Amino acid sequence: MPKQIISASEMERYGYCPLSWHLDLKGIDAEGTEVNTGVEKHKEMGDSLKNLLVEEEKSRETSTTLITVVSMIMALVTVALIILLISNDDINLGFILLIIGIGWMLVASFFLYRLLVSTEKIDKLRDDYKLGETDIETPDGLTRETPVLKSAKFNLAGRPDYLIKDKEQRIPVEVKTGRRPKAPFFSHVLQIGAYCLLSEETFGVKPSHGQIRYGFENEPHEVKWDSDLKGLVNEKLEEMNDILKGKMEAHRNHKRVGKCNNCSRRKGCPERLKN
Ligand code: SF4
Repeated sequence: MPKQIISASEMERYGYCPLSWHLDLKGIDAEGTEVNTGVEKHKEMGDSLKNLLVEEEKSRETSTTLITVVSMIMALVTVALIILLISNDDINLGFILLIIGIGWMLVASFFLYRLLVSTEKIDKLRDDYKLGETDIETPDGLTRETPVLKSAKFNLAGRPDYLIKDKEQRIPVEVKTGRRPKAPFFSHVLQIGAYCLLSEETFGVKPSHGQIRYGFENEPHEVKWDSDLKGLVNEKLEEMNDILKGKMEAHRNHKRVGKCNNCSRRKGCPERLKN
């Protein structure tokens, strides 16, 4: 099997069961309605977050234009009033400038309206996704600063759902569907650990933690990006790279029938546990 870049979502699959990850590499697709629902919900969320960033960019541009237009109006009106007050000869010019100023006021009203509509959309999207005032980025090339996260050193790449910009650090956030567990699942911790590693490698600043959100209505789980998690991510990456190089085989890593019953690759799995 050729050596290939490992993605953070593959690490999640590997954390769930190494064999599930390996079956996927061999082309055995995941089945089940929950898989499709998860993909659809992720797409919907990705589109909404993209819209939010587009709207915020539009809003910034409209604000800048509005400030320029208002400054022009103020300058025009000031000059017009000065002419009207002190010059007897240029009264017509004063009136013309005043009329132009009024015309620009209509233009300013249009930009103000656009800004209000845009602000309303932004507030709604931020409310829907409980984002508060956090400064976010999505790793899809929309913002110039955020590339897809990659690490040649670790043979790893990935795209968290979004990143929170907190001063110099970028905190990766992964959104999961389903009910919020008391503690995040091992496979999800491994995935967010991979994103933390990628954030650190890409931006050169170690994030203090990553976030896992089980639905937007719930408080996120914060997963500390410490030496323990870094060690775990490295260990699993080494195993995965060894499997890709043919030095190791992938096998089931558990004895839980329920886990196999819930596994989306159970149909094509030779090591599936049965009741
Ligand atoms: S069916 Fe069980 S052993 Fe097979 S991939 Fe899924 S979890 Fe692993």
